[in-house]
Amino acid sequence: MPDQWGHWRALHEAAVRQFELYGYGELQTPIIEETRLFVKGTGESTEIVEKQMYCLDTGEGQSIALRPEGTPPAVRAYLERNLHKQHPFQKFWYAGPMFRRERPQKGRLRQFHQIGVEAIGSVSPLLDAETLLLATDIYREAGLKQWRVCLNSIGCERCRPGYREELRRRLSTRREELCEDCRRRLKRNVLRVLDCKMEDCRAVVAELPEVSDYLCNECREHHGAVKRVLTEHDVQYEEDSRLVRGLDYYTRTVYEIKHPALGARDTICGGGRYDGLVEELGGPPTPCVGFAMGVEASLLAMEADLGPATDSGGPPAVFIVSFEEAARERCFDLLEALRAAGVPADMDFEGRSAKAQMRLANRVGSAYCFLIGERELSAGQVLIRQMAGGEQWTVPWQEAPREAARLLRGDP
Ligand SMILES: [Zn+2]
Ligand SMILES: [Zn+2]
Repeated sequence: MPDQWGHWRALHEAAVRQFELYGYGELQTPIIEETRLFVKGTGESTEIVEKQMYCLDTGEGQSIALRPEGTPPAVRAYLERNLHKQHPFQKFWYAGPMFRRERPQKGRLRQFHQIGVEAIGSVSPLLDAETLLLATDIYREAGLKQWRVCLNSIGCERCRPGYREELRRRLSTRREELCEDCRRRLKRNVLRVLDCKMEDCRAVVAELPEVSDYLCNECREHHGAVKRVLTEHDVQYEEDSRLVRGLDYYTRTVYEIKHPALGARDTICGGGRYDGLVEELGGPPTPCVGFAMGVEASLLAMEADLGPATDSGGPPAVFIVSFEEAARERCFDLLEALRAAGVPADMDFEGRSAKAQMRLANRVGSAYCFLIGERELSAGQVLIRQMAGGEQWTVPWQEAPREAARLLRGDP
């Protein structure tokens, strides 16, 4: 509803402004994709693909899905446009609805929205840092205050298998203590046991070795560089060795931005590096890094920091009050002239009495009323009333839009 979109718009406007400052280009992909894009890209063993996708059999032997996330579609578009051959380095941003089958609750809807970026074609740790700086700059510009950044490296395809093996080895002896989900993860996606929220699993996880002990030299250097750049640019972060993110494609850097107002599921933005995804989807080896902000979760955070949801736009600066029913059309002409002069303006369309029109002007919060009665019509004038204070004066009809624009600018 119109009175709820203020924070939404502020967040999107902050994001678009920062995307332009950081040199990211807008990318819009379709809401519907082939299901196998996500099975391959997001990962068969992820919760998203296993349980949360809305899929539809087209009746032509094809399965399509409502996109549950934006990264595989961005990579698909990148490859389909042959950018990997022409201009391999690309920085995209997107914003739009995503769909996951989840139990709806506050800040978590089956149609939800994400604002995200994908920076494709560079292994530079500067780019990992850039995406995180970009995310925090968006939140800062949107007015958010209390976020914190959690950072980890989960290694690469060279060093991660060793860690995975070690986890599997240790956890298989304590299988009975794990929750049902984690027992399944043991086989298919053991890293995800690390961020299980169940009490018993957490106790087991606390005794596991940390991924940082298993990183190869390249991963260690990369992680060190990311941290150095963040520190140099005043991003405070916490190192969280249990942070893995729920997606299969992440490599090396993973991060989350969390907000204390959100309770147990407090992540408002998640991101990281995904150096294997382009290849997984049929392209050449191409390193990438990106993030996705959960818009609904971010809005809850904004409400906590900035107060309740607000109106998305301002009130009409001028409200035209017509004392003569027959003058409505001429009032409408004036209304259009005001809008053409860049003045937000409105009038009554419900046949209200002059008195009721004044009340309405008050209620919507217009700063000025243009009062049009018999006298004004015959003299070719407009009576302007400043709503605060009640000061009144007349101007020639033709001058009225320019006068309103001047008042709005605050010129003397
Ligand atoms: Zn490595
Ligand atoms: Zn568990």
